[in-house]
Amino acid sequence: MASLEINEIIRTRRKSIALIVLRDGRLIVRAPLRTSQRSIMDFVQQNSAWVEKQRQKMKALPPANMVHHFTEGEKFLYLGQTFCLQLTQKQHPALVLNSHFLLNKDKQVTAKTVFEKWYKARAANLFSERALQLAQQHNFSFKKLRITSAKTRWGSCSSRGSINFSWRLVMAPLEIIEYVIIHELVHTVIPNHSQTFWKRVEEIVPDYKLRRKWLKQNGHLLNLE
Ligand SMILES: [Zn+2]
Repeated sequence: MASLEINEIIRTRRKSIALIVLRDGRLIVRAPLRTSQRSIMDFVQQNSAWVEKQRQKMKALPPANMVHHFTEGEKFLYLGQTFCLQLTQKQHPALVLNSHFLLNKDKQVTAKTVFEKWYKARAANLFSERALQLAQQHNFSFKKLRITSAKTRWGSCSSRGSINFSWRLVMAPLEIIEYVIIHELVHTVIPNHSQTFWKRVEEIVPDYKLRRKWLKQNGHLLNLE
């Protein structure tokens, strides 16, 4: 078995060895003060499968602050999944998603606009479809659905019965999108965030707290900047 590279060993007054895999894949070992190099190496070897699994997991995650330059290999989110960007020769439309995002090389300079347009179109389709279905299923009605470019206000609702969603939300997993849709649909009946409101949300989405938490923790990733 090839030996795993340890990037840093931190010795402290602790009782056992712990392994930490950072977001960039680096392996940090925390160990008790007097642990020998040998036993650290052994421990790492015994846990090499775990380390490898963590590294794979980290690789699948988008980078901590998703800065996009629209270069080959960069990661983009769609429905909670990460897809790599691949530049191609002539291609119509300019941006296509299969197992990768394929972008026409000539459009790289305006890639941000191209991506935005792509996300907006997907958001408009998906959100209308899901909102209609969920409204029907739970007896809500709305007059209009608009797609906004809000950066953190994922959904909103007007007193005239229109519900609005940011196109950026289409980068989130479907269950998160559905929670936001339900949230706004409930607002068409209960405009505030009273206990009654949250109770109604919970009836429809029993684990809504988890989904809200996901948005709070990952919302900053749902952007192209
Ligand atoms: Zn609300």
